[in-house]
Amino acid sequence: MTEAYCVKCKSKRTMSNAAKVTMKNGRKAMKGTCPTCSTGMYRILGN
Ligand SMILES: [Zn+2]
Repeated sequence: MTEAYCVKCKSKRTMSNAAKVTMKNGRKAMKGTCPTCSTGMYRILGN
């Protein structure tokens, strides 16, 4: 389960279809979609 902030819902949602991705700068992030409005969400994996 990965939580991320949805800018459209303006609240935290549990990502659906969450997948680990590596960004261009080499940082890892979780990419998924909001289960409520289907907006794309990102969460940077800081630690
Ligand atoms: Zn949303």
